[in-house]
Amino acid sequence: MTPYEDHVRLWADELRAWLPETLFDAHVHIGLPDAVGPIAPERRASAVTTFTNLSFEELLETHSALYGGKTICGLTAFPFPQREVNSALANDYIIDVMKRDSRVRGFLLAEPADVHPVIAAFEKALKAGLRCRGVKPYADRLGKNNFDATMAEFLPDDLLTFMDREELVMMLHTSGQGVGAADVQDALRRMTSRYPRVRIILAHMGRYVRHQQFLDFMDTGILQECPSLYLEMSSASCPEVYDRVLESDGLHSRLLFGSDLPFGMITGVERWSPTRGAIFLARDDYSWSDPAMNAEFARERASLTYNTYHCIKAFKDALMHAGFDAGKTERIKEDVFSANALRLLG
Ligand SMILES: [Zn+2]
Repeated sequence: MTPYEDHVRLWADELRAWLPETLFDAHVHIGLPDAVGPIAPERRASAVTTFTNLSFEELLETHSALYGGKTICGLTAFPFPQREVNSALANDYIIDVMKRDSRVRGFLLAEPADVHPVIAAFEKALKAGLRCRGVKPYADRLGKNNFDATMAEFLPDDLLTFMDREELVMMLHTSGQGVGAADVQDALRRMTSRYPRVRIILAHMGRYVRHQQFLDFMDTGILQECPSLYLEMSSASCPEVYDRVLESDGLHSRLLFGSDLPFGMITGVERWSPTRGAIFLARDDYSWSDPAMNAEFARERASLTYNTYHCIKAFKDALMHAGFDAGKTERIKEDVFSANALRLLG
């Protein structure tokens, strides 16, 4: 990772003073290089492989560089979930870190086609006196592009039955187009009604390609009607999605701050371009960067910094424009940046 730099002073000039003193980071990846197999060159062309390891010590250093002066009171940690990762080794590392630091709520990586390894890891932790809090399923482990995967392929019923029995939390990265798509909405309806004790955190605000898809999802009422669904804000850097969530009082207790470190260190934002479609615009060059696109957007790129800062800024803008009184604004801020996650994950 390149050394930390407050490129456009978003942190120093704006976010540091506005954020609460205590943060719960509901979305981090940790793992050691030995758990990762070779990454093929064509896989390097995708942002999903930007990072494949980060030790717990490196995570703590990154937290203090990014959120300097704040206290991290808890975090939800899970392995790097790419198909090249050995899930048994990666889950062992999560259990090891839980042993070392009680702030860590460990989530285990699940295999799409076989529930037994994740159950074995869960039981191994229990024997060591530790209770993993959740599971991270991930479509990439099917060996296909997330956009081509369906929810049922990586969320088999035997996994959901196990999670329901143990009342585990799911960190869900939706497949396809995300929450705006009918098949994703159907899967959420089915899971929440059949497995009501599985609380589901919709990572990246459930994912959307254009923010209108998130607004369409809000119009379905699924989120408002299912108290087991939560939203996590990493990578969602457009204020319109937060504007809509803040309009619904019942959702204020179900929005969670997450950084998606180390991916939240990518210096850029995902956004829609009328000419290019869904793009990831970044200040720095990565193995997946397109030189022609980078040249086209050179000016905009110079205004970008760490993705997590842009997400916090988008939420801040929405909260400041929501028109709540000072007391309610402070309460929502405390809830989103720590209290909601502490209530969910103890
Ligand atoms: Zn992630």
